[in-house]
Amino acid sequence: MDALRALPSVHQLLEEEPATTLIAAHGRPLVRFAVQRVLEDERRQASTDTSHDRWARVEATIQGLRRPRLRPVINATGVILHTNLGRAPLAAAAAEATARIAGRYSTLEFDPQTGRRGRRHDLVADTLRYLTGAQSAAVVNNCAAAVLLMLTALARGKEVIVARGELVEIGGGFRMPEVMRLSGARMVEVGTTNRTRIEDYASAITPKTAAIMKVHASNFQVVGFTESVDLKPLATVTRQHQLLLLHDLGSGALLDTTAVGLAAEPRIQDSLLSGVDLLASSADKLLGGPQAGLLLGRSDLVERVMKHPLARAVRVDKLTTAALAATLDLYLTQSLAEVPIWGMLRASTESLRSRAQAWLRRLAELGVVAEVTAAESTVGGGSLPGERLPTSVLAITPRQGGATELLRRLREHEPPVIGRIADERVLLDPRTVLPDEDDVVVDAVAGALS
Ligand SMILES: *Cc1c(COP(=O)(O)O)cnc(C)c1O
Repeated sequence: MDALRALPSVHQLLEEEPATTLIAAHGRPLVRFAVQRVLEDERRQASTDTSHDRWARVEATIQGLRRPRLRPVINATGVILHTNLGRAPLAAAAAEATARIAGRYSTLEFDPQTGRRGRRHDLVADTLRYLTGAQSAAVVNNCAAAVLLMLTALARGKEVIVARGELVEIGGGFRMPEVMRLSGARMVEVGTTNRTRIEDYASAITPKTAAIMKVHASNFQVVGFTESVDLKPLATVTRQHQLLLLHDLGSGALLDTTAVGLAAEPRIQDSLLSGVDLLASSADKLLGGPQAGLLLGRSDLVERVMKHPLARAVRVDKLTTAALAATLDLYLTQSLAEVPIWGMLRASTESLRSRAQAWLRRLAELGVVAEVTAAESTVGGGSLPGERLPTSVLAITPRQGGATELLRRLREHEPPVIGRIADERVLLDPRTVLPDEDDVVVDAVAGALS
C-alpha cells in the first residue's frame, strides 16, 4: 500500500526533465501513453521503480511501439511462395511502380484524355486480355474475394454443382462449402472423395442449377483409384443445359511449370480455351505479383459480377493496381528473369550449389564450421503439393545450444533470417534468398554463432 501511495502521477512525471527530451523526440501523446502504461504495470505488480528505471522502461515502451512490425525478412526456407512471409516478392519494376504512385494523385479512376471517370480494373484489363485470351477481365482483392463475388453475383439462390473431391480448404479458413453458403448459392455435391464422372454432374442438373464449378485441388493430392472430369466435357454439358462453367484456379499460372521440371499447374489460358465461362485466380501465387484476385472470362459475366454491390467491398487499391500492371508488363515483354519467383523456380542446381558454397567459404574464413548438402525446395502457397525442386543448402550443426537455439538467434537478427531444421541441423536454402541478400545471410550466421 505504501509503495502504491509513493507512485507519482502521470502529470507529475510529464513535468520531469526526461519527459521533456522524450516529448521533443516522440510527441506528448505517445510519451503520456507510455508513462501511463509503465505506471499501470508498477501498480499491478505493487512495486515502485527507481526514477531511472522507470524512465528507461518508458523509453523502451515508446521504442517498442515505434518499431515497425511489418519489416523485411530473409527467406532461407526454400519455400518459394511462403504465405506467412508475404508470398511472392514483387519484381523491382513492380515495387518501383508502387512507390511512384503511393505518394501522389494518379489516374486510378480518371482518363486524362477525356477528363472523364474511368474504372480502376480497366487499367490492367487490356493486358490481361492479351496475356490470357479472355474476353474480359477484372481485378479484386484476392482470389478468395473473386470466388465469393463470382458465386454471389451469378448463383445466389440457385444451385451450384461441385465434385466432392474438390471441396478444398485453403489456408486461413477458406473452405469451399462455407464460401458457397456465404454466397447464398446452394451447393450440390456430386461423386465421391476419390472419383467423379461426367454422369454424376449431368444427373445432378435441375431447373434450379445455375452453374458447375470446378475447384483446383491446389494444396493436396488424391492418389490411387481416382477419377475426375476435365473442363472440356464439363463445358459441353454446361453449354447443352445453358449453365455456367465456373473455375476456381487458385494459383493460376501464365507459364508452363513443366518447363522448370515441375508438375503441370493449370494455366489460365488453358482453362479459358477449355470453355470456362468465368474463372478466379490469385495474382500473388505463381503469377508472382501483388495480392489480388483476377476474374477472367465472358464479358457479360465480368460486367454482371463487377456491377454487384459486393464488388465495391472487395475492390483493389491503387498500390496493388500499380504493382499488378508492372508485373503483367514483364510478361508482355517476356522479361521473366525479372519476376523473382520465376528466377527462383528456374535457378539451376549448379548456380544454387555455387551460392551455398560461396556462403560456406566466407563463413569458413570467419571460423564457422558448416557444410553444403543436397536438399529440396518447395513451391508452397498452396501450389503444386508434393512437388520438390532439388537444391543445395548450407547445413550448420551448432556446437552448442542446438539447432532450435540457432534458428531462434537467426530470427533475432535484423533483418531476421528464416531457416528450417532437419536432422538437428539448420538448413539455409539459397533458392529463396534474393541475390542482394547473400552478405546479410553470412553476417547473420556468423553473428548467431559467435
Ligand atoms: C489459394 C487459393 C485460393 C485463395 O486465393 P487468395 O488469393 O489467397 O485469396 C482460392 N482457391 C484456391 C483453389 C486456391 O488455391
